[in-house]
Amino acid sequence: IITFNNVDKWYGNYHALKNINLSISKGERLVICGPSGSGKSTLIRCINGLEQYNNGDITVAGHLLNNKELHTIRGQVGMVFQHFNLFPHMTVLDNLTLAPRRALKMSKIDAENLARKFLDRVHIGHQADKFPGQLSGGQQQRVAIARSLCMKPNILLFDEPTSALDPEMIREVLDVMKELADDGITMICVTHEMGFARQVADRVVFMDQGEIIEIAPPALLFDNPKHQRTQQFLENIL
Ligand code: ATP
Ligand code: MG
Repeated sequence: IITFNNVDKWYGNYHALKNINLSISKGERLVICGPSGSGKSTLIRCINGLEQYNNGDITVAGHLLNNKELHTIRGQVGMVFQHFNLFPHMTVLDNLTLAPRRALKMSKIDAENLARKFLDRVHIGHQADKFPGQLSGGQQQRVAIARSLCMKPNILLFDEPTSALDPEMIREVLDVMKELADDGITMICVTHEMGFARQVADRVVFMDQGEIIEIAPPALLFDNPKHQRTQQFLENIL
């Protein structure tokens, strides 16, 4: 459903992605890990056009990612960020209905029904009328996940969705993500939650200095990494 073909990305003269080749199947659950600054966020932000790349090509759901197709592709790709990015002055329900009403031209009633369905799905249905600031971090992140689901994406990108959360809230967000993974949505997740990766990921990508160093199923990558850089990284975080 997504292919990277010899993709390079520079920020000025800094080479942030180096000849990335990666093919992700429909329904696959991919975890991306690697040290800070290795290009993980840059890589997933290229998938929905938040970053432009310089060489090679990226295809998403059969569309070559270029300016003409960007709009089509964005509609299929949802993204969840580290810092929830909810609108603080809007209720939870309004945060969820905004994009479906504007972008999908849904009626207020339809958008609200859809929003309530997804709030229930992330176990937060009773918080619809609160403002984000009245919720815990874990609850806010679940609202952000529900908001992405309201756009009915085929692909969900997560960029360190639990790294801003207190330990006791991490689990509730990971549990929701596991439930989504079981539903068959294509998920690409930058995370250092190795327990989650082991349980959920079909494959794990290890990146370092803008390169993909190694891609393997979690059991292989964690227990038997081929490359020294992967070994070193795992020793430092496990
Ligand atoms: P982290 O784990 O800290 O989130 P990351 O693997 O997500 O790191 P990226 O955010 O993709 O790393 O950044 C890769 C490299 O590109 C870093 O060296 C970073 O400093 C650089 N970079 C990222 N965004 C920009 C930007 N907008 N302008 C210039 N350089 C950037
Ligand atoms: Mg990042």
